[in-house]
Amino acid sequence: MSETAALARPVSADLRARLAQIVGPDNLRDDEASLALFSEDVWSRADHRLMLIVAPATTEELAAVVKAANEAGVSLAPRGAGMSYTSSYIPADDHTVSLDTTRMDKVLAISPEDMTVTVQAGCSWLALNEALKPHGLRTPFWGPMSGIYSTIGGGLSQLNAMFGAGHYGTSSESVIALTMVLADGRTLRTGARGPDGNTPFYRHYGPDLAGLFCGDSGTLGIKAEITLRLIRTPQFEDSASFSFETGEIMLEALAEMARAGIAAETCGFDPGLTKVRMRRMSMTADVKALGAVIAKEKSIGKGLLAAAKIAMGGRHFIEENEYSLHMTAEGRSKEGVAADMATAREIARRFNGVEIENTIAKVIRAMPFPPPNSILGPEGESWVPVHGHASLSNAPAIFAEIRGYFDSMQAEFDRLGIHNGFLFSSLATNAITIEPVFFWPEGYRPIHESMVEPAHLARLKQLGPHPEATALVTQAREQVKAICKKWGAAHFQIGRAYPYRESRDAAFTDVLDAVKAVVDPRGMFNPGGLGFPQ
Ligand SMILES: Cc1cc2nc3c(=O)[nH]c(=O)nc-3n(C[C@H](O)[C@H](O)[C@H](O)COP(=O)(O)OP(=O)(O)OC[C@H]3O[C@@H](n4cnc5c(N)ncnc54)[C@H](O)[C@@H]3O)c2cc1C
Repeated sequence: MSETAALARPVSADLRARLAQIVGPDNLRDDEASLALFSEDVWSRADHRLMLIVAPATTEELAAVVKAANEAGVSLAPRGAGMSYTSSYIPADDHTVSLDTTRMDKVLAISPEDMTVTVQAGCSWLALNEALKPHGLRTPFWGPMSGIYSTIGGGLSQLNAMFGAGHYGTSSESVIALTMVLADGRTLRTGARGPDGNTPFYRHYGPDLAGLFCGDSGTLGIKAEITLRLIRTPQFEDSASFSFETGEIMLEALAEMARAGIAAETCGFDPGLTKVRMRRMSMTADVKALGAVIAKEKSIGKGLLAAAKIAMGGRHFIEENEYSLHMTAEGRSKEGVAADMATAREIARRFNGVEIENTIAKVIRAMPFPPPNSILGPEGESWVPVHGHASLSNAPAIFAEIRGYFDSMQAEFDRLGIHNGFLFSSLATNAITIEPVFFWPEGYRPIHESMVEPAHLARLKQLGPHPEATALVTQAREQVKAICKKWGAAHFQIGRAYPYRESRDAAFTDVLDAVKAVVDPRGMFNPGGLGFPQ
């Protein structure tokens, strides 16, 4: 992480005038505070400063902006809500313009008849869900936990895990069609699109170009419009939580639940993360969570009962040293959900799991998109995750190796005040995400101030810089990635943080490079991302 970013090259008067003409002068920003904020992410601060931030509102404006930037020879860094932590959208050189997509935040069309929804790429998952709610509709994958702000364009460029992922897999598996803007300003539209050529309704029409742009970390073009598949929102749901003696056993149980296909989503915590979660849950958060649980139940009586159970269970319903697994089942009938819950309980029993209060599972569903206060630790520490997606059979061994590495580092972690924890979840019937997270005594920065609720931030300490602890967290993150690589684990959010090309066949990278040469011949989109040259 760089403490002082070098200045950017000045923007030419020509480019500034052209961009101002396209988006209007009010939608160009180059004040120091905005440039500094957009030049860092939750993990890192760029070595360079941005030249300018430009915010188009429509696909036409976006296409004109990209064309102008290309012709001016600058780099372009698309940014949604900026909630990623893989140095992906920050400037890699001294001539980068940030492309802020947050004005492209509209739900453009909802079609209950065709079961599709089309959004602009800067639309947040929360806004999408709010717009669909009155129709009784939902997308199959319906958002990451950052969905209060994080965008659908960002979620497809990085791929997402969480709500609905247990049944339907990642965000890209809900995509029907994309409208992409290429470096020369042309638009590329994927999918079958009806007689007017403009109404996407089905993803597959020959080779799947939509898939090509999903998970590209914004290196193969700019997502302008996105059409997603709809389902009727399942009317029945139930949840359960279990505790297990070890992480390996919990992962065996999670794998078996994934194979059985019974969970809409799953979420597991190790004892380290449980402790942090419990410490962070302020009274305000507890009250908000209880309110949300009551509001979600169909009758007030049921709501109060659920809230009372949670209040009585309090924060002490998980044994300090146990691994907890939280699952939600959902479906079209009460009986179907009950059958899935019975299977979950039977699987948990087989692995000596003990059923505990389902507080966490209930709160997660009742408040799916909480304010992102969790990006700082309970004392104001910095936070960063690192992850790998493992096959069901490999997950326990990968976890054991990472856990063993952390144990070997414990004395050093303790000396520098570094804490860690693990988050686990499943992706459809065939993968498990293992996500270690670190908290360390490095103070918060503008990016944190831009996201954390002011009242919450006011309760935290500003810890200031701690280069030694940050260096050790960097080293530990790299070691986790090395363990993941050894086991052939995959990654979302590749950005500039995870190895990618190294594990691909030579023929694979040839095809990828050929695509890049067509969509972005100068390498202007997020240079250095996805292993492309910087
Ligand atoms: C508190 C918190 C909770 C989180 N929970 C989850 C979770 O549950 N599941 C999960 O998967 N992730 C989670 N994340 C990670 C992160 O929120 C996601 O990766 C999210 O998808 C980022 O979206 P964004 O709009 O903020 O994208 P950004 O961070 O702004 O950008 C991400 C990448 O996408 C590119 N990009 C953005 N928009 C476009 C576009 N229109 N066209 C082309 N490229 C584009 C950027 O250049 C960058 O490479 C969490 C993060 C936080 C801080």
